[in-house]
Amino acid sequence: MSFDIQQVRADFPILSQAIYKRPLIYFDNAATTQKPLQVINAISDYYLHDNCNIHRGVHYLSVKATEAFEEARKEVREFINAPSTHEVIFTKGASESLNLVAASFGKKFLKEGDEVITTIMEHHSNFVPWQIICGEKGAVLRVANILPNGELDQEHLYSLITDRTKIIALTHVSNVLGTINPIKDIIAFAHGKGIPVVVDGAQGVSHIKVDVTDLDCDFYCFSGHKMYGPMGIGVLYGKEKWLEELPPYQSGGEMVKDVTIEKTTYNELPFKFEAGTPNVEGVMGLRAAVQYLKNLGMEEIHAYEDKLLKHAVERLSAIRDMRFFGTALLKASLVSFLIGDIHPFDAGTIIDKMGIAVRTGHHCAQPLIDHFGIPGTVRASFAFYNTIEEIDKLTDAVSRVKTMFS
Ligand code: PLP
Repeated sequence: MSFDIQQVRADFPILSQAIYKRPLIYFDNAATTQKPLQVINAISDYYLHDNCNIHRGVHYLSVKATEAFEEARKEVREFINAPSTHEVIFTKGASESLNLVAASFGKKFLKEGDEVITTIMEHHSNFVPWQIICGEKGAVLRVANILPNGELDQEHLYSLITDRTKIIALTHVSNVLGTINPIKDIIAFAHGKGIPVVVDGAQGVSHIKVDVTDLDCDFYCFSGHKMYGPMGIGVLYGKEKWLEELPPYQSGGEMVKDVTIEKTTYNELPFKFEAGTPNVEGVMGLRAAVQYLKNLGMEEIHAYEDKLLKHAVERLSAIRDMRFFGTALLKASLVSFLIGDIHPFDAGTIIDKMGIAVRTGHHCAQPLIDHFGIPGTVRASFAFYNTIEEIDKLTDAVSRVKTMFS
């Protein structure tokens, strides 16, 4: 391992507290990650020294804040290897990025009888916006299945493609199953049929080195808060050719070039999609998060988290009656499980009392949970600041739950 875990943990002061008189073990990283001091300091430095509205002022502070904002855009571009900063749009999160694509793409390109393909493993944020726009346009939403191990049924997805398919919306990594989808292959296949692909990367960017140029995706959406940055900031990457064609999602200041009583012309990219005063503090924090991840190295992060995952699977599998959801060959570092028939809320509540934060419920992926016919799962999702010892404590806690209910 090329990073020092104790040094890394020292960057995250929240992790060194005790809850219920036990050291906090934080395994709810798929919901949101903790923030290093570098991110917290970037936000407070911005307010201590540079706070100003951007793009509009000629005075010192406004120019300084604008330059820092646009520098951040360059760093995000480099982080995902987007061809141009024009293709990096700041939003308030993955949900807003996905809503933007569904609403603007749907408005321009969907009509009655058209089809949109998504998958059963999507988070509601990449499902409901498509359901809504399809409903408005009289289009049909087709849903690809999964295989029993939680991998996407690629053959089924391909069989849904017709000459009415206008776009495919799928997740890079499932927030419930951990499955890493072969999005590069799917994008190549879809492009062979002239169909664009929007990727929900909310669970992708924090675990995998993402290269949107190599993937050749048409859109890639993610949130700052799931990659050690602040809440309320996210990114939409879109190919310039699409962003030029899509109508604006919101209107107001900043997204306009010229406004007269008769009509409005729109600003150039990326500003056409950034109406109003942006979340500048969020962008400062996101920039620090990107720098932090770059310093650790995405390959190193992936290798370390994979070790955590393998250890968790090995230890938890040794407990009788464990039921795992999502055992794909290619998986991000999370485990979703039930302990026999114990309700996930009961299990989660007891595990919490042992100082361990896990998530329980449907994880905003109700169609997937319904597919399994279960009330939800317990999900433990790991980050690079977690340790093997913490996973051993989770295993002890799960055993304890099982004993209490037997
Ligand atoms: N997509 C996936 C796969 C997610 O896991 C989440 C959040 O859990 C989202 C989208 C939505 O992200 P946000 O709530 O940051 O907009």
